[in-house]
Amino acid sequence: MTQPLTIALSKGRILDDTLPLLAEAGIHPAEDINKSRKLIFDTNHEHIKLVVIRATDVPTYVEYGAADLGVSGKDVLLEYDSDNLCEPLDLNIATCRLMTAGVKGVPLPAGRIKVATKFVNVAKRYFAEQGRQVDIIKLYGGMELAPIMGLADLIVDIVDTGNTLKANGLEARDLIAPVSSRLVASRAAMKVKHAQIQPIIDQIGAAVERQKQKSR
Ligand code: AMP
Repeated sequence: MTQPLTIALSKGRILDDTLPLLAEAGIHPAEDINKSRKLIFDTNHEHIKLVVIRATDVPTYVEYGAADLGVSGKDVLLEYDSDNLCEPLDLNIATCRLMTAGVKGVPLPAGRIKVATKFVNVAKRYFAEQGRQVDIIKLYGGMELAPIMGLADLIVDIVDTGNTLKANGLEARDLIAPVSSRLVASRAAMKVKHAQIQPIIDQIGAAVERQKQKSR
């Protein structure tokens, strides 16, 4: 019998793009994920299960082998920053940008600046590369408020249309990294369970290519 294989999916915005891609790859959940409170789902393939968890927890499940594959935003992976994970596929979905942003028209003060973000590791690395002295302030959401309230000079956040920044009187400044969702696996699982994992990667990879063709 084929061993069970678990794919961890990120809840929320990414899930809306992931499910059509999995369908294109011939993987269909046994019930409507969006209408269920369950966290584990059977699929039309007896050996493939899906788990739906918080986006920031996906790399942890995959790294520790609790899930064999995961779908994770590059923003989350950059923040998680583990050498034990690899990204066999760029899924080309949920694209956006990790950027710095500040109050519109307000220049940065000279010297040390305050940066509010939930992407603490990303921000630390970025400003170190820039040679800029910063104090990083960890927030869990609503980053746009921080510069307006005088908590920070800049934020590091995800920008898609830019509407959220605009609605709060902010402007995007510098691009830190383009973001899309990735298929993620642990380096250990890629070796030990290669025979099971590789066919799924190939199946999803072919679906990504077909979706690219359709959107051209
Ligand atoms: P927007 O107003 O279109 O620039 O969207 C910005 C907000 O939407 C960000 O603060 C994020 O919280 C969220 N967002 C947009 N795209 C993504 C994505 N691909 N992954 C995660 N969050 C996103």
